[in-house]
Amino acid sequence: MDTPPKSAHTHEMTWWERMYVPEVFKGLATTLKHIPQKKKTLQYPEERPERLRPEPERYRGMHRLTKDPDGRVKCVACFMCATACPAECINIVAQPTPDEWTDREKMPAVFEINELRCIFCGYCVEACPEDAIRMDTNITVPVFGRREDFIFDRDRLLSHEPRMDLNGEYMSRR
Ligand code: SF4
Ligand code: SF4
Repeated sequence: MDTPPKSAHTHEMTWWERMYVPEVFKGLATTLKHIPQKKKTLQYPEERPERLRPEPERYRGMHRLTKDPDGRVKCVACFMCATACPAECINIVAQPTPDEWTDREKMPAVFEINELRCIFCGYCVEACPEDAIRMDTNITVPVFGRREDFIFDRDRLLSHEPRMDLNGEYMSRR
């Protein structure tokens, strides 16, 4: 019976290598050699790469709903954003506006975005005829939390301000 060919990577261990202990110390020496070197890892998202400081103008962060000069939600519940969303992560329920709102007929009773499903394509922003939804908050998706924490409702989306940092502070306060 023919002996199988040896792999090109087969390495016969020497007696010294078969002792293992010297090899363990060689491994430890490699570890110790790297300890004083500059770290290449970052505690993202608390730490951000230098190339993202400051974040590019067109950086897509978490969504926000905008308000008109009277402080009312700009959204007119037209469903254009939800229709354009390829991830189907926008849920809107419309309701009639109060009688004194003479400039529009509908507003969102429910406006939810499931940020776990969102692919940050920005189509919702592009589709909105009222400039009522934007992704200029600078906030990234939380990396942990309960599933329901990732579903942002209308009030939370309205509370977001443009260009906030990761802790929810406004960039201008830096
Ligand atoms: S960014 Fe894209 S995936 Fe996310 S809500 Fe908007 S349209 Fe949907
Ligand atoms: S955010 Fe814009 S596109 Fe979406 S429902 Fe409101 S007005 Fe329409």
